Amino acid sequence: MIYKKSPEEIATMRRAGKVVADTHERLEEAIRPGVTTAELDRIADEYIAGAGGVPSFKGYRGFPRSICSSPNEMIVHGIPSEDVVLEDGDIVSLDIGVILDGYHGDSAWTYAVGAADAAAAELLKVTEASLDAAIGQTRPGRRLGDVGYAAQQVAEAAGFSVVREYAGHGIGRSLHEEPWVPNYGPPGRRELLSAGMTIAIEPMVNAGGAGTKVLDDGWGVVTADGSLSAHFEHTVAVTPEGHEVLTRRGPL
Ligand code: MG
Ligand code: MG
Repeated sequence: MIYKKSPEEIATMRRAGKVVADTHERLEEAIRPGVTTAELDRIADEYIAGAGGVPSFKGYRGFPRSICSSPNEMIVHGIPSEDVVLEDGDIVSLDIGVILDGYHGDSAWTYAVGAADAAAAELLKVTEASLDAAIGQTRPGRRLGDVGYAAQQVAEAAGFSVVREYAGHGIGRSLHEEPWVPNYGPPGRRELLSAGMTIAIEPMVNAGGAGTKVLDDGWGVVTADGSLSAHFEHTVAVTPEGHEVLTRRGPL
């Protein structure tokens, strides 16, 4: 069952998305060599509470922290830790979810810590472009296969792989709703998009193979081959004219 949202519900999700975007801006300022992922989690937790929100991930299926922080070869779901000290040349994916007035916003971004080398910088650029291409297909009349195919094409044209086991999702009153939003085709298949649908689109792109592995903590997901991975995500509403990105940075 896909729950379509009214314009009023989308307005609430826009406010939730704004808190998510603003939290990303705070964290981007705080990322530097020597910072721990636990410190980033604390900054996010305090900012979200101050904005009147609740972190979507805290306590979700027992997740112990407010954000997910996934460095280097980690794809998603990393638990922030005092033991994870970010170093110059690392990349780190930060995934932030916020509930505000009963509705969720969800957005991930991968950041360079200090100076990224050329290979890492290319992976970040391509993964962001993969997300942009997928968002570009998000409008009434297109299908989720078109959205996923667009993400896949950009990643694979650069020689990278899209993760298959994890995907985007419908979002609204629940963090994860139907439909499943995979980052691959074929085009012309899967659910038809129509105005009022709200989805999180989130390509996870590996520099090497697409394979994944879950760590012993039961949360962190890493690339099977140890290659770098990046993750870019926006919460997007399908509108009569096309789409609106609800977690876009900057003034509303
Ligand atoms: Mg997310
Ligand atoms: Mg998500």
